[in-house]
Order: sequence, then C-alpha cells, then structure tokens
Amino acid sequence: MKKPDLRGKVPESWACIDCGINTAPSHLNREQMEQAFARDWADKGVENTYTELTEIYEVKRQIWEAAGMEPMNGCLCIGCLEKRLGRTLTAKDFVRNSPLNKMPGTERLLERRNVDLSAVDKLASIARRKRAS
Ligand SMILES: [Zn+2]
Repeated sequence: MKKPDLRGKVPESWACIDCGINTAPSHLNREQMEQAFARDWADKGVENTYTELTEIYEVKRQIWEAAGMEPMNGCLCIGCLEKRLGRTLTAKDFVRNSPLNKMPGTERLLERRNVDLSAVDKLASIARRKRAS
C-alpha cells in the first residue's frame, strides 16, 4: 500500500502543547500512522486503543478558539484547556455526535462529558472478572 498523507488528519504529536503530558499513550502520531498504513499490505487497518489514560475529545469550535487554538495546531489535555478557558468544561462544550466523544478516557474527561462513572466502573469490573476466569 502506498504511504498515505495524513497531514492535518492525525496530530504530529499527542503531547499536550502546554504541559507535555501524552494525551494518547496508545496512539500513533501522524508519522507513525503513515508508516503503519504503508506496512498494512493485507489492508487490515490500523488500530488505536482508547484507555483510562486517553484524553482525546472534540470540543465545539468556539471553545477551541476561546482557548487560543486553531484546528489541528496541537493537543491540549483537559487540565490545560480548562486553565486557558479559566473554567471547568461541561458536557455542552463537547461536540455532541463526535465519535471521539464516545470513547473511553481519563476519569476527568468522562466526568466533564457527564458519563455515568458508576456504569463505567461496572463495565470495568465485568471485564476484570472475565479476564480472571
Ligand atoms: Zn496539559
């Protein structure tokens, strides 16, 4: 497969541009993703894993702009985005139907998205039990 051009589609780096924390420890950056697709001769696709360490989300354009950001000019962790905004994010700040906003993530991200954490805990304990048996 020809190496795809993912500029502007996948971040150059998942590091928060303010504090440097990796917002997506199990994700490939743009260069790594292009290489992975180039190696994908069987066309199986490239998998990204979302975990409790992932802070990938999509906020509404005006929220991103209020933080002094432009599309695709870097990642911000939730803490740094809130610091820039001077307030805590709420569920209304996130793009409602974005697939990114339906993925697992850090506890603070899920809290801001108004996800029922007790349900998440239940799922986690079911997963743990399955693994144990
Ligand atoms: Zn940060």
